[in-house]
Amino acid sequence: MAAAIAAAEAGLRPLVIDENPQAGGQIYRQAPAALHGGQPPARRTPEARGATLFGRFQRQDRIELLTETSVWGLFGPRRLAITCGDSSRMIEAQHLVLATGAYEYLPPFPGWTLPGVMTPGGAQSLVKTMHVLPGRRALVAGTGPFLLVVAMLLHQAGMEVAGLVEMAPARDEVRALPGLLAQPGLLWEGLRYRTRLRRAGIPIYRGHVLLEARGEGEVREALFAPCNGDGYPDRSLARVARVDTICAGYGFVPRAQLAQLAGCKLRLDEARGGWVPEVGEQLQTSVPGVWVAGDGAGVAGALAAELQGTLVGLAVARQLGALDAGRWQALRKPLARRLARLGRFRAALDRLYRLRPGLVSLATADTLVCRCEELTRAEVEAGIAAGGIDLRTLKVITRLGMGPCQGRMCWPAAARLVAARTGKSVEDAGPLSIRPPVRPVSLQSLCELTPPAADVGLVAPQRDNGGAL
Ligand SMILES: Cc1cc2nc3c(=O)[nH]c(=O)nc-3n(C[C@H](O)[C@H](O)[C@H](O)COP(=O)(O)OP(=O)(O)OC[C@H]3O[C@@H](n4cnc5c(N)ncnc54)[C@H](O)[C@@H]3O)c2cc1C
Repeated sequence: MAAAIAAAEAGLRPLVIDENPQAGGQIYRQAPAALHGGQPPARRTPEARGATLFGRFQRQDRIELLTETSVWGLFGPRRLAITCGDSSRMIEAQHLVLATGAYEYLPPFPGWTLPGVMTPGGAQSLVKTMHVLPGRRALVAGTGPFLLVVAMLLHQAGMEVAGLVEMAPARDEVRALPGLLAQPGLLWEGLRYRTRLRRAGIPIYRGHVLLEARGEGEVREALFAPCNGDGYPDRSLARVARVDTICAGYGFVPRAQLAQLAGCKLRLDEARGGWVPEVGEQLQTSVPGVWVAGDGAGVAGALAAELQGTLVGLAVARQLGALDAGRWQALRKPLARRLARLGRFRAALDRLYRLRPGLVSLATADTLVCRCEELTRAEVEAGIAAGGIDLRTLKVITRLGMGPCQGRMCWPAAARLVAARTGKSVEDAGPLSIRPPVRPVSLQSLCELTPPAADVGLVAPQRDNGGAL
């Protein structure tokens, strides 16, 4: 939204494609009006920031928006195959901004496929968007500040929260303080969540890790234990919580599949969640005319996503001649400075809430690793032993990552298993090879695929009748 607003304000006519029913992404997703009763959000909340951005977006009549439309392939760096319902078509863009966001990471552990185990974002979506409680009594576990948000939300929505299990130990929080002070407001927001949870009587188990979800057909118990600084649990001190819901999440993974299909050079940035496109100073990728912004360029949060979006929108406008150099510099410099300040805060947060190697020890031989293809850890390890020492080869040997999610869920865990077994790095395991469709698409819509039409997409960099993004 931010990229499109910046480009439109400079006189271009961007086209925005989003598979959600409304624009807004994960955090600013607009709940159906029937659910929030038309009440305006409280000031200074993410909802209020989202409403402001959404308002600016809606008022921009140069922006064309296609919702419930997925980009399922790229055939050429800027030739997109899109699908809506049962129809598909191709469009060609002069400039393509990929702002595909991120998804949650949940490493495999015994019982993680039981009904009642979900990601914190899944629970948040049920409560916030659908006004449905995921259960009666929950344990929230994993790592990262998002757990605080979801534990508080579940409590406020009327669920009993048995506790919050956070892998990062308390001493690491103290070490992170100087970096976190780069954004005192955000640090304060985090501390406020802590205080509110304590007042609500919800214990926070720092330096602990979730070991197992137990139950017949549904979750009945969660097992968790203290862990060392590397995340390896001390099972002799394990505790049991009786719960019917486990919200487990270990940060976010950038959605970089479309950048990969566009042919962009990728690099592994473990602190930012995984493989991300290599970018230059203006967030341009290695492929001319392809840009990235937001969590898809490396997880950095909603504020950074918005700033990056605006910067990319301005950079595209500059390249298309819609902004002169002086105006472009005047607009971009203050945004770049704010982004740098956020970067210092983010680096401290990433160190504190990093994925620790002990997570690989959680899955037992019969724990599913690839849920789509139903491959257990033992089967994946047999594939590695048979020569699958990088993810591309492992995919061919085992079918790992060939199901509907196309490896989004399993690659981070599989890459760590490969690294642990071969003694090499996660980077050496490489990204999964990727092919269209990156989204499920019906055969009917493939049959009806139409080539790019002259009137679809864009061209023309001039103001007012300018090119689309
Ligand atoms: C589940 C979840 C819950 C979160 N909750 C919070 C929270 O409570 N508080 C907080 O501060 N941060 C939260 N975050 C983080 C925050 O949402 C992100 O930092 C921020 O939204 C990043 O913005 P973005 O534009 O990069 O990505 P997003 O907001 O994720 O937007 C990406 C958009 O791209 C669309 N898209 C992706 N692929 C395709 C495709 N192939 N075709 C068409 N459209 C596509 C998606 O539909 C989505 O609308 C959450 C993140 C997730 C994943």
